[in-house]
Amino acid sequence: SCAGHAGYLWQDGVVKRDEGWRAMSSSLGCRLGETVTERIGRTPLFCLQRLPAISGISDRVQLLVKAEWYNPGGSVKDRAAWRIVREALRTGALGSNRRLLDATSGNTGIAYAMLGAALGFGVTLVVPGSIGEERRAILGAYGAELIYSDPYEGTDGAIRLARQLAAEQPDRYYYADQYSNPANWLAHYEGTGPEILEQTRGQVTHFVAGLGTTGTMMGTGRFLKEANPDVVLVGVQPDDPFHGLEGLKHLPTALTPAIYDPSLVDRMEFVDTEEAYRLARDVARCEGLLLGPSAAAAIVAALRVARELDQGVIVAILPDSGLKYLSTPLWHPERG
Ligand code: PMP
Repeated sequence: SCAGHAGYLWQDGVVKRDEGWRAMSSSLGCRLGETVTERIGRTPLFCLQRLPAISGISDRVQLLVKAEWYNPGGSVKDRAAWRIVREALRTGALGSNRRLLDATSGNTGIAYAMLGAALGFGVTLVVPGSIGEERRAILGAYGAELIYSDPYEGTDGAIRLARQLAAEQPDRYYYADQYSNPANWLAHYEGTGPEILEQTRGQVTHFVAGLGTTGTMMGTGRFLKEANPDVVLVGVQPDDPFHGLEGLKHLPTALTPAIYDPSLVDRMEFVDTEEAYRLARDVARCEGLLLGPSAAAAIVAALRVARELDQGVIVAILPDSGLKYLSTPLWHPERG
């Protein structure tokens, strides 16, 4: 039906309901098609078909994976970015010609850049100088402005530089701060969590997600625990300093995300890059799914959990696909 399709339009520095489309569509009976923002979320939950059997997992254990690359920007971060942007547009924090500013090693930046292009606001991203060619090209295509931070300072360096720019030019920038912004985890509390509960008909027993900003785990984990306190939450920390994640390091850091509540996570799994890469290569060939490194790490952790179980329904988040990593050692072992 036409009702419930909340289109948004960026006009004169404010976001407006998309009444223009509504008026035009009323002559047609209903607006056809969807907007980019309407298509965020509601991602498919695949059941792995061959990997569980060859990995020696009980046939009473179901291994399910949520394919977040089905979001229009190609990753799980569309959810958080859209919730952050929506909130900032609603409160006016992102209006009157202020640009959205954040530190991001890639996927959040791609999501912001896509939303900026779709809704008409400027986006400035602080990224470590080490980010891959594919990501640079994607961000540039959407018209985002990039500021490079010292690659040797990684994510922490990007965060420090973003904070500094925001403090120096508060009128120019709205600092979205995905590491501290509650809209990040709320996106998953309101979206990813309910979707998983519905897609598993309430039968989910274990939830596995990588920890970057920790938004995915905090939001989805909180929602699933509230629905069923017996659900086991498994956090995954990939050991991938240069092409993967933004966020937690193995060492405790002053920059641990403010939204992170370690008491929520029941179990922590550490996955090394090589093991994740090997699994990604196997999954491409035996499941027909092209995974990014953190998706592969999540499945490595899910398999460890699955091997210990007699029965259960395990859901792992796959944050992005392998497409942005085509030039990396993930698909070119000889270059590693
Ligand atoms: N994997 C990838 C590829 C990501 O881009 C991110 C988020 N930056 C994560 C995992 C972790 O998600 P979150 O920030 O919600 O913890």
